[in-house]
Amino acid sequence: MLPTTISRLLQAYPFTLLQGNPQQPVTGISIDTRTLQPGDVFVAFTGTRVDGHERIEEAFSKQAAAVIISRPEAQYALQNFAHFPVLLAQDTLQAVQAIARQERDSFDGPVFGITGSNGKTTSKEMLLASLSTVTQPLGTKGNFNNELGMPLTILQRSPKDGAMVLEMGMRGRGQIAELCQIARPTCGLITNIGHSHIELLGSQEAIADAKTELFAALPADGFAIVNMDDPFLKKRIHRTKAQIVDVSLHDQTCSVYANDIQLGDEETSFTFVMNGHRHSVRLLASGLHNVQNALLVLAAASACGYEIEGLIQGMATYRPTQGRLYPRKGAYGRTILDDSYNASPLSARASLDVLKITGDVKKKWAILGDMYELGNYTEEGHRTVGEYAAHLGIPVICIGQFAKIMADAIAQAGGKCEYFPSIEEALPHLPSLLPVDSVVLVKASRGMQFEKIVEHLVNG
Ligand code: ATP
Ligand code: MG
Repeated sequence: MLPTTISRLLQAYPFTLLQGNPQQPVTGISIDTRTLQPGDVFVAFTGTRVDGHERIEEAFSKQAAAVIISRPEAQYALQNFAHFPVLLAQDTLQAVQAIARQERDSFDGPVFGITGSNGKTTSKEMLLASLSTVTQPLGTKGNFNNELGMPLTILQRSPKDGAMVLEMGMRGRGQIAELCQIARPTCGLITNIGHSHIELLGSQEAIADAKTELFAALPADGFAIVNMDDPFLKKRIHRTKAQIVDVSLHDQTCSVYANDIQLGDEETSFTFVMNGHRHSVRLLASGLHNVQNALLVLAAASACGYEIEGLIQGMATYRPTQGRLYPRKGAYGRTILDDSYNASPLSARASLDVLKITGDVKKKWAILGDMYELGNYTEEGHRTVGEYAAHLGIPVICIGQFAKIMADAIAQAGGKCEYFPSIEEALPHLPSLLPVDSVVLVKASRGMQFEKIVEHLVNG
């Protein structure tokens, strides 16, 4: 955050200043004493494992400028720190959000909000890479996309930052709107509407309504980047008062589309066409879904006034993140497409498409596991992925409880498949099932811990 004072924080949120000097300078916010920097305000969160109220003395010993607490009795333990500022908040999360909103309000550059069912982090990384040649962007680290992570990202702002790139996650209705009240995005990008969190929201229509809270929050002079290939988003194009940038992979009536798409194993190239102007783009990532991500990202940054050739140069520095369709060298000449970070029916089909175009036709396998959080869609979701693999002619090793549905669907569709209930039962069979020099896609929901399979295949 930009240097400020306690008295300014008192304007952001109705704190009670229990002790200390309101003129005390402040240079940052920290919720973890292990990473706290001198001058930070330490916020004492009550977590499930650690209660920050027990770390207040440690925070002051590490030269915290002040502490924010929610339990007033914690103040009385501070015999050695009687002069240090202590702020009492009703709710520490709301306090952090309010300080982040204040920080945002003092920022003039573009603020990009990114949401969608799949590809938020990927698109966020692509946008950060693209912007890096034209400005200094501040962006979400890793997957810090929730009601605490996003405000903490904003609070990382440094004086030289020229743009903010914020990933916005959600589990239910109203949450994107809440994040938008803090971030006040000027450009909103929604990757797609899939099935993640359908168990909580009930239908894809409801997911789309929740995600497009981002479009609804944009100001009239902002930009809504609309993926017109997604029927749920296309239908909600009028939910915004912002200027619309319509984007499609193939539809040449849109203001942004791609041409001459060349899909390779690890590299993709295409022509980015925006308002009739054509630009060649090279992307070190595979799959049509990544072309879609890149189109949306370039459309967003270019709409905000950044020069397109610079953005394209920056895009060439993008590298896939570990666990997200990340190519790794396996033992016995195998190539492992490590997609163990997460899975949903939409992203599983996208990854199967990538496997389809990678490597030798006869030497491809997918190892697919359970996809969680699909609620009523669990059965259909696993069945459609199984049928899709069979349709592409890709043999699959299915692992897990729901993966049985996938295995049955593959068998019924005449495809090739092996089934194991657990990773432990599968591991001993992998060496004989997977040919040397094969390309192996490894994908399942986070909770399945498929990184164990990846490590096994990498180490031999
Ligand atoms: P999370 O909800 O966990 O934050 P996310 O939306 O940030 O997920 P990523 O981490 O970027 O998504 O990617 C998750 C998976 O989705 C990866 O397997 C990735 O290959 C795939 N994916 C990325 N972009 C798309 C897309 N446009 N369409 C479908 N799948 C995609
Ligand atoms: Mg993410």
